[in-house]
Amino acid sequence: MDFQLSMPKSGDDHENKPNPDEIREVIIIGAGPAGLTAAIYTARAHLNPLMIEGYFSGGQLMDTTEVENYPGFRNGIMGPDLMAEMHAQAERFGTEFLAKDVTKVDLSGDIKKVWVEDDLFQAKTVIISTGATANYLGLENEKRLLGRGVSACATCDGFFFQDKEICVIGGGDSAMEEATFLTKFASKVYLIHRRDQFRASKIMVKKAADNPKIEFIMDTVVEDVLGEDAVTGVRLKNVKTGEVTDLPVEGMFLAIGHTPATKLFVGQLEMNDKGYIVTSTDKHNITATSVPGVFACGDVQDDHYQQAITAAGSGCQAALDVEHFLESQAMDVETESSMAAAA
Ligand code: NAP
Repeated sequence: MDFQLSMPKSGDDHENKPNPDEIREVIIIGAGPAGLTAAIYTARAHLNPLMIEGYFSGGQLMDTTEVENYPGFRNGIMGPDLMAEMHAQAERFGTEFLAKDVTKVDLSGDIKKVWVEDDLFQAKTVIISTGATANYLGLENEKRLLGRGVSACATCDGFFFQDKEICVIGGGDSAMEEATFLTKFASKVYLIHRRDQFRASKIMVKKAADNPKIEFIMDTVVEDVLGEDAVTGVRLKNVKTGEVTDLPVEGMFLAIGHTPATKLFVGQLEMNDKGYIVTSTDKHNITATSVPGVFACGDVQDDHYQQAITAAGSGCQAALDVEHFLESQAMDVETESSMAAAA
Protein backbone atom coordinates (compact mmCIF):
# COMPACT_ATOMS: atom_id res chain seq x y z
CA MET A 1 0.00 0.00 0.00
CA ASP A 2 1.30 3.42 -0.87
CA PHE A 3 0.80 5.93 1.92
CA GLN A 4 3.21 8.44 0.43
CA LEU A 5 1.00 9.43 -2.45
CA SER A 6 1.81 13.08 -2.90
CA MET A 7 -0.68 15.83 -3.50
CA PRO A 8 -0.01 18.17 -6.42
CA LYS A 9 1.63 21.15 -4.73
CA SER A 10 1.83 24.79 -5.59
CA GLY A 11 3.34 27.43 -3.28
CA ASP A 12 6.83 28.81 -3.80
CA ASP A 13 7.63 26.75 -6.83
CA HIS A 14 4.31 27.44 -8.53
CA GLU A 15 4.91 29.02 -11.92
CA ASN A 16 1.93 31.39 -11.67
CA LYS A 17 1.96 32.83 -8.19
CA PRO A 18 -1.50 34.26 -7.40
CA ASN A 19 -1.64 38.01 -7.93
CA PRO A 20 -2.07 39.72 -4.53
CA ASP A 21 -3.42 42.96 -6.11
CA GLU A 22 -6.47 41.35 -7.66
CA ILE A 23 -9.81 41.56 -5.84
CA ARG A 24 -11.20 38.09 -6.29
CA GLU A 25 -14.69 36.74 -6.19
CA VAL A 26 -13.79 34.04 -3.67
CA ILE A 27 -10.93 32.79 -1.55
CA ILE A 28 -11.20 29.30 -0.06
CA ILE A 29 -9.15 28.53 3.05
CA GLY A 30 -8.43 24.83 3.62
CA ALA A 31 -8.22 21.91 1.19
CA GLY A 32 -10.05 18.95 2.66
CA PRO A 33 -13.12 17.44 0.97
CA ALA A 34 -15.23 20.51 1.87
CA GLY A 35 -12.80 23.09 0.49
CA LEU A 36 -11.95 21.10 -2.64
CA THR A 37 -15.62 20.54 -3.44
CA ALA A 38 -16.24 24.27 -2.98
CA ALA A 39 -13.29 24.86 -5.34
CA ILE A 40 -14.69 22.51 -7.99
CA TYR A 41 -18.10 24.22 -7.89
CA THR A 42 -16.87 27.83 -7.76
CA ALA A 43 -14.30 27.15 -10.49
CA ARG A 44 -16.99 25.64 -12.72
CA ALA A 45 -19.12 28.73 -12.01
CA HIS A 46 -16.24 30.88 -13.37
CA LEU A 47 -15.58 32.51 -10.01
CA ASN A 48 -11.83 31.86 -10.36
CA PRO A 49 -11.30 30.64 -6.79
CA LEU A 50 -8.00 31.02 -5.01
CA MET A 51 -7.57 28.01 -2.75
CA ILE A 52 -5.10 28.66 0.07
CA GLU A 53 -4.55 25.05 0.97
CA GLY A 54 -2.00 25.24 3.77
CA TYR A 55 1.32 23.43 3.94
CA PHE A 56 -0.48 20.17 4.67
CA SER A 57 -3.16 19.95 2.05
CA GLY A 58 -5.90 17.32 2.03
CA GLY A 59 -7.12 17.45 5.62
CA GLN A 60 -7.78 14.43 7.79
CA LEU A 61 -8.26 12.06 4.86
CA MET A 62 -4.51 12.29 4.30
CA ASP A 63 -4.19 10.41 7.61
CA THR A 64 -6.86 7.88 6.74
CA THR A 65 -6.46 4.44 5.29
CA GLU A 66 -9.24 2.89 3.29
CA VAL A 67 -12.41 4.95 2.93
CA GLU A 68 -15.21 2.46 2.35
CA ASN A 69 -18.22 4.75 2.63
CA TYR A 70 -17.51 7.45 0.05
CA PRO A 71 -20.09 6.81 -2.68
CA GLY A 72 -18.74 5.87 -6.07
CA PHE A 73 -15.93 3.60 -4.89
CA ARG A 74 -17.44 0.19 -4.43
CA ASN A 75 -14.12 -1.36 -3.40
CA GLY A 76 -13.13 1.59 -1.21
CA ILE A 77 -10.41 4.12 -1.88
CA MET A 78 -7.38 5.19 0.13
CA GLY A 79 -7.92 8.61 1.78
CA PRO A 80 -4.87 10.26 0.13
CA ASP A 81 -5.93 8.91 -3.28
CA LEU A 82 -9.40 10.39 -2.88
CA MET A 83 -7.93 13.77 -1.97
CA ALA A 84 -5.49 13.67 -4.88
CA GLU A 85 -8.43 13.06 -7.22
CA MET A 86 -10.44 15.95 -5.77
CA HIS A 87 -7.41 18.24 -5.97
CA ALA A 88 -6.81 17.35 -9.61
CA GLN A 89 -10.50 17.86 -10.38
CA ALA A 90 -10.47 21.34 -8.79
CA GLU A 91 -7.29 22.18 -10.70
CA ARG A 92 -8.81 20.96 -13.97
CA PHE A 93 -11.49 23.66 -13.75
CA GLY A 94 -8.97 26.41 -13.05
CA THR A 95 -8.69 26.66 -9.26
CA GLU A 96 -5.53 28.52 -8.31
CA PHE A 97 -3.68 26.88 -5.42
CA LEU A 98 -1.34 28.34 -2.87
CA ALA A 99 0.26 25.72 -0.60
CA LYS A 100 0.92 27.99 2.36
CA ASP A 101 -0.82 28.72 5.64
CA VAL A 102 -3.03 31.76 6.09
CA THR A 103 -1.47 33.88 8.83
CA LYS A 104 -4.15 36.53 9.45
CA VAL A 105 -7.60 37.53 8.25
CA ASP A 106 -9.78 40.63 8.42
CA LEU A 107 -13.32 39.65 7.54
CA SER A 108 -15.00 42.87 8.65
CA GLY A 109 -15.32 44.92 5.45
CA ASP A 110 -17.11 44.28 2.15
CA ILE A 111 -13.72 43.23 0.79
CA LYS A 112 -12.30 40.42 2.89
CA LYS A 113 -8.57 40.45 3.60
CA VAL A 114 -6.49 37.29 3.89
CA TRP A 115 -2.77 37.41 4.62
CA VAL A 116 -0.23 34.74 3.83
CA GLU A 117 2.85 36.04 5.62
CA ASP A 118 3.38 39.49 4.03
CA ASP A 119 1.17 38.88 1.00
CA LEU A 120 -2.37 40.25 1.24
CA PHE A 121 -5.09 38.57 -0.83
CA GLN A 122 -8.51 40.18 -1.14
CA ALA A 123 -11.92 38.86 -2.14
CA LYS A 124 -15.62 39.66 -2.04
CA THR A 125 -16.29 36.34 -0.33
CA VAL A 126 -14.40 33.79 1.74
CA ILE A 127 -15.16 30.12 2.25
CA ILE A 128 -13.63 28.67 5.41
CA SER A 129 -12.95 24.94 5.29
CA THR A 130 -10.03 24.59 7.68
CA GLY A 131 -11.34 21.37 9.24
CA ALA A 132 -10.32 20.04 12.62
CA THR A 133 -7.19 18.55 14.22
CA ALA A 134 -6.58 15.57 16.49
CA ASN A 135 -6.95 15.85 20.26
CA TYR A 136 -4.43 14.61 22.82
CA LEU A 137 -4.97 13.56 26.44
CA GLY A 138 -2.93 16.48 27.75
CA LEU A 139 -0.42 14.43 29.77
CA GLU A 140 3.08 15.81 30.16
CA ASN A 141 4.79 12.56 29.16
CA GLU A 142 2.46 12.18 26.20
CA LYS A 143 3.79 15.46 24.86
CA ARG A 144 7.40 14.56 25.65
CA LEU A 145 7.12 11.21 23.85
CA LEU A 146 5.23 12.53 20.83
CA GLY A 147 6.90 11.02 17.77
CA ARG A 148 8.71 8.53 20.03
CA GLY A 149 5.85 6.10 20.39
CA VAL A 150 2.99 8.56 20.83
CA SER A 151 1.06 9.36 17.68
CA ALA A 152 -2.34 10.55 16.48
CA CYS A 153 -1.83 9.24 12.96
CA ALA A 154 -1.95 5.49 12.41
CA THR A 155 -1.37 5.80 8.67
CA CYS A 156 1.69 7.96 9.15
CA ASP A 157 3.32 5.96 11.94
CA GLY A 158 1.83 2.45 11.93
CA PHE A 159 4.69 1.12 9.84
CA PHE A 160 7.15 1.75 12.69
CA PHE A 161 5.41 -0.76 14.94
CA GLN A 162 6.08 -4.01 13.10
CA ASP A 163 5.53 -6.96 15.45
CA LYS A 164 5.18 -4.64 18.46
CA GLU A 165 2.46 -4.41 21.08
CA ILE A 166 0.68 -1.07 21.02
CA CYS A 167 -2.52 0.60 22.23
CA VAL A 168 -5.18 2.84 20.74
CA ILE A 169 -7.16 5.23 22.94
CA GLY A 170 -10.79 6.07 22.17
CA GLY A 171 -14.16 4.48 21.56
CA GLY A 172 -15.33 6.11 18.34
CA ASP A 173 -15.13 5.08 14.68
CA SER A 174 -11.61 6.47 14.42
CA ALA A 175 -10.40 4.25 17.27
CA MET A 176 -11.95 1.15 15.65
CA GLU A 177 -10.59 2.05 12.24
CA GLU A 178 -7.09 2.78 13.53
CA ALA A 179 -6.94 -0.32 15.74
CA THR A 180 -7.99 -2.50 12.81
CA PHE A 181 -5.50 -0.85 10.48
CA LEU A 182 -2.65 -1.14 13.00
CA THR A 183 -3.04 -4.92 13.18
CA LYS A 184 -1.36 -4.97 9.75
CA PHE A 185 1.85 -4.10 11.57
CA ALA A 186 1.53 -4.69 15.30
CA SER A 187 1.48 -8.11 16.93
CA LYS A 188 -1.17 -6.93 19.40
CA VAL A 189 -3.40 -3.87 19.68
CA TYR A 190 -5.10 -2.95 22.97
CA LEU A 191 -8.06 -0.66 22.45
CA ILE A 192 -8.52 1.35 25.64
CA HIS A 193 -11.84 3.10 26.22
CA ARG A 194 -12.98 5.16 29.19
CA ARG A 195 -16.57 3.83 29.26
CA ASP A 196 -18.30 0.45 29.01
CA GLN A 197 -20.00 1.39 25.74
CA PHE A 198 -18.62 2.41 22.41
CA ARG A 199 -19.62 5.51 20.49
CA ALA A 200 -18.47 3.82 17.26
CA SER A 201 -20.92 2.30 14.77
CA LYS A 202 -21.80 -1.36 15.34
CA ILE A 203 -20.22 -2.51 12.08
CA MET A 204 -16.87 -0.97 12.96
CA VAL A 205 -16.96 -2.33 16.51
CA LYS A 206 -17.70 -5.79 15.11
CA LYS A 207 -14.81 -5.60 12.65
CA ALA A 208 -12.42 -4.73 15.50
CA ALA A 209 -13.96 -7.28 17.90
CA ASP A 210 -13.59 -10.03 15.28
CA ASN A 211 -9.91 -9.25 14.82
CA PRO A 212 -7.88 -11.73 16.93
CA LYS A 213 -5.06 -9.22 17.38
CA ILE A 214 -7.32 -6.63 19.07
CA GLU A 215 -8.19 -6.71 22.76
CA PHE A 216 -10.66 -4.24 24.29
CA ILE A 217 -9.88 -2.72 27.69
CA MET A 218 -13.03 -0.95 28.90
CA ASP A 219 -13.81 1.54 31.70
CA THR A 220 -10.17 2.55 31.67
CA VAL A 221 -8.25 5.79 31.36
CA VAL A 222 -4.58 6.43 30.69
CA GLU A 223 -3.00 8.15 33.68
CA ASP A 224 0.54 8.34 32.37
CA VAL A 225 2.75 7.37 29.45
CA LEU A 226 5.87 5.49 30.52
CA GLY A 227 9.36 5.53 29.01
CA GLU A 228 12.46 7.72 28.91
CA ASP A 229 13.44 8.01 25.25
CA ALA A 230 10.57 6.00 23.80
CA VAL A 231 7.25 4.63 25.00
CA THR A 232 7.62 1.48 27.06
CA GLY A 233 4.12 1.35 28.52
CA VAL A 234 1.03 3.15 29.74
CA ARG A 235 -0.28 3.49 33.30
CA LEU A 236 -3.97 2.62 33.33
CA LYS A 237 -6.69 3.23 35.87
CA ASN A 238 -9.95 1.33 35.89
CA VAL A 239 -12.54 4.02 36.57
CA LYS A 240 -14.95 1.55 38.23
CA THR A 241 -12.56 -0.30 40.53
CA GLY A 242 -9.87 2.37 40.88
CA GLU A 243 -7.22 -0.29 40.15
CA VAL A 244 -4.01 1.07 38.62
CA THR A 245 -1.90 -1.16 36.33
CA ASP A 246 1.00 -0.70 33.95
CA LEU A 247 0.52 -2.12 30.47
CA PRO A 248 3.74 -2.69 28.53
CA VAL A 249 3.32 -1.28 25.00
CA GLU A 250 5.71 0.43 22.59
CA GLY A 251 3.18 2.72 20.97
CA MET A 252 0.15 4.77 21.97
CA PHE A 253 -2.19 6.02 19.25
CA LEU A 254 -4.74 8.69 20.12
CA ALA A 255 -8.18 8.57 18.52
CA ILE A 256 -10.14 10.77 20.92
CA GLY A 257 -11.78 13.27 18.63
CA HIS A 258 -10.84 16.58 17.14
CA THR A 259 -10.72 20.32 17.72
CA PRO A 260 -11.81 22.68 14.95
CA ALA A 261 -9.09 24.81 13.35
CA THR A 262 -10.71 28.17 14.07
CA LYS A 263 -7.99 30.12 15.91
CA LEU A 264 -7.56 32.50 12.95
CA PHE A 265 -11.19 33.58 13.18
CA VAL A 266 -11.63 34.08 16.94
CA GLY A 267 -13.33 37.40 17.66
CA GLN A 268 -14.42 37.78 14.03
CA LEU A 269 -16.98 34.99 13.62
CA GLU A 270 -19.56 33.55 15.98
CA MET A 271 -18.47 30.16 17.35
CA ASN A 272 -20.14 27.59 19.61
CA ASP A 273 -18.86 26.50 23.02
CA LYS A 274 -16.67 23.84 21.37
CA GLY A 275 -15.06 26.41 19.08
CA TYR A 276 -16.86 25.34 15.88
CA ILE A 277 -17.99 28.14 13.54
CA VAL A 278 -21.72 28.75 13.80
CA THR A 279 -23.48 28.67 10.45
CA SER A 280 -26.96 29.75 9.48
CA THR A 281 -30.19 27.85 10.09
CA ASP A 282 -31.65 29.36 6.91
CA LYS A 283 -31.90 26.34 4.64
CA HIS A 284 -31.39 28.56 1.59
CA ASN A 285 -28.13 29.96 2.96
CA ILE A 286 -27.01 27.20 5.29
CA THR A 287 -23.25 27.84 5.15
CA ALA A 288 -23.46 31.58 5.92
CA THR A 289 -21.56 32.61 9.04
CA SER A 290 -22.28 35.58 11.32
CA VAL A 291 -20.41 37.85 8.87
CA PRO A 292 -21.95 38.58 5.44
CA GLY A 293 -19.79 37.26 2.62
CA VAL A 294 -18.08 34.67 4.81
CA PHE A 295 -19.16 31.04 4.53
CA ALA A 296 -18.01 27.90 6.36
CA CYS A 297 -18.22 24.25 5.39
CA GLY A 298 -16.95 20.85 6.49
CA ASP A 299 -15.69 19.85 9.93
CA VAL A 300 -14.86 23.43 10.94
CA GLN A 301 -18.61 24.02 11.37
CA ASP A 302 -19.84 20.45 11.90
CA ASP A 303 -19.40 18.93 15.33
CA HIS A 304 -21.82 16.13 14.61
CA TYR A 305 -21.69 14.32 11.25
CA GLN A 306 -17.98 14.78 10.41
CA GLN A 307 -17.96 12.51 7.38
CA ALA A 308 -15.98 13.03 4.17
CA ILE A 309 -19.21 12.94 2.20
CA THR A 310 -21.05 15.42 4.45
CA ALA A 311 -18.02 17.71 4.30
CA ALA A 312 -18.02 17.50 0.51
CA GLY A 313 -21.77 18.13 0.47
CA SER A 314 -21.42 21.24 2.61
CA GLY A 315 -18.56 22.42 0.36
CA CYS A 316 -21.00 22.30 -2.52
CA GLN A 317 -23.57 24.24 -0.48
CA ALA A 318 -20.96 26.89 0.39
CA ALA A 319 -20.10 27.33 -3.29
CA LEU A 320 -23.77 27.74 -4.22
CA ASP A 321 -24.31 30.15 -1.31
CA VAL A 322 -21.32 32.21 -2.50
CA GLU A 323 -22.70 32.29 -6.04
CA HIS A 324 -26.06 33.48 -4.77
CA PHE A 325 -24.45 36.07 -2.49
CA LEU A 326 -22.36 37.52 -5.33
CA GLU A 327 -25.38 37.62 -7.65
CA SER A 328 -27.48 39.47 -5.07
CA GLN A 329 -24.62 41.91 -4.42
CA ALA A 330 -24.32 42.56 -8.16
CA MET A 331 -28.11 43.11 -8.38
CA ASP A 332 -27.98 45.59 -5.47
CA VAL A 333 -25.24 47.57 -7.24
CA GLU A 334 -27.28 47.56 -10.50
CA THR A 335 -30.41 48.75 -8.71
CA GLU A 336 -28.48 51.49 -6.90
CA SER A 337 -26.94 52.79 -10.13
CA SER A 338 -30.26 52.77 -12.04
CA MET A 339 -31.93 54.64 -9.13
CA ALA A 340 -29.07 57.16 -9.13
CA ALA A 341 -29.44 57.60 -12.92
CA ALA A 342 -33.22 58.10 -12.61
CA ALA A 343 -32.86 60.67 -9.79
P1 NAP B 1 -15.66 10.67 18.30
O1 NAP B 1 -16.77 9.97 17.63
O2 NAP B 1 -15.89 12.00 18.94
O3 NAP B 1 -15.07 9.68 19.39
C1 NAP B 1 -14.07 10.09 20.27
C2 NAP B 1 -13.86 8.98 21.28
O4 NAP B 1 -12.78 9.36 22.11
C3 NAP B 1 -15.07 8.75 22.16
O5 NAP B 1 -15.27 7.38 22.35
C4 NAP B 1 -14.69 9.44 23.46
O6 NAP B 1 -15.20 8.80 24.59
C5 NAP B 1 -13.19 9.30 23.47
N1 NAP B 1 -12.56 10.41 24.17
C6 NAP B 1 -12.72 11.74 23.97
N2 NAP B 1 -11.94 12.44 24.80
C7 NAP B 1 -11.29 11.53 25.56
C8 NAP B 1 -10.35 11.64 26.60
N3 NAP B 1 -9.91 12.83 27.03
N4 NAP B 1 -9.89 10.51 27.15
C9 NAP B 1 -10.31 9.31 26.72
N5 NAP B 1 -11.19 9.12 25.73
C10 NAP B 1 -11.68 10.24 25.16
O7 NAP B 1 -14.42 10.91 17.33
P2 NAP B 1 -13.93 10.04 16.07
O8 NAP B 1 -13.87 8.61 16.40
O9 NAP B 1 -12.69 10.71 15.61
O10 NAP B 1 -15.06 10.25 14.99
C11 NAP B 1 -15.44 11.57 14.60
C12 NAP B 1 -16.48 11.48 13.49
O11 NAP B 1 -15.87 10.93 12.33
C13 NAP B 1 -17.65 10.58 13.85
O12 NAP B 1 -18.81 11.14 13.33
C14 NAP B 1 -17.32 9.28 13.16
O13 NAP B 1 -18.47 8.55 12.80
C15 NAP B 1 -16.58 9.78 11.94
N6 NAP B 1 -15.64 8.74 11.44
C16 NAP B 1 -16.11 7.88 10.50
C17 NAP B 1 -15.28 6.89 10.00
C18 NAP B 1 -15.82 5.97 8.95
O14 NAP B 1 -17.04 5.87 8.83
N7 NAP B 1 -14.97 5.30 8.19
C19 NAP B 1 -13.98 6.75 10.47
C20 NAP B 1 -13.53 7.64 11.45
C21 NAP B 1 -14.38 8.62 11.92
P3 NAP B 1 -16.76 8.86 24.96
O15 NAP B 1 -17.43 7.95 24.00
O16 NAP B 1 -16.78 8.39 26.38
O17 NAP B 1 -17.17 10.28 24.82
